[in-house]
Amino acid sequence: MVDIECEKCGYEWDYTGELMTTTCPRCNLKTPTPLDEEVESNADESIREREVRAQERTADALERIASVLERVE
Ligand SMILES: [Zn+2]
Repeated sequence: MVDIECEKCGYEWDYTGELMTTTCPRCNLKTPTPLDEEVESNADESIREREVRAQERTADALERIASVLERVE
């Protein structure tokens, strides 16, 4: 459930659907819901998480290589 505010008349209501636009019950203006933005920000989030995990794996590998090199010397 999300709070929707009509851009035209300022009417606020709770939206419980899953569409990217909804219609204002007061003035019938098509209003975008926050859902279309959420889809994009979630995608960004998972890409960032994957980058962080890749960096952690690289750091792990470099540490292991460094410890092997220390033992050789
Ligand atoms: Zn309205």
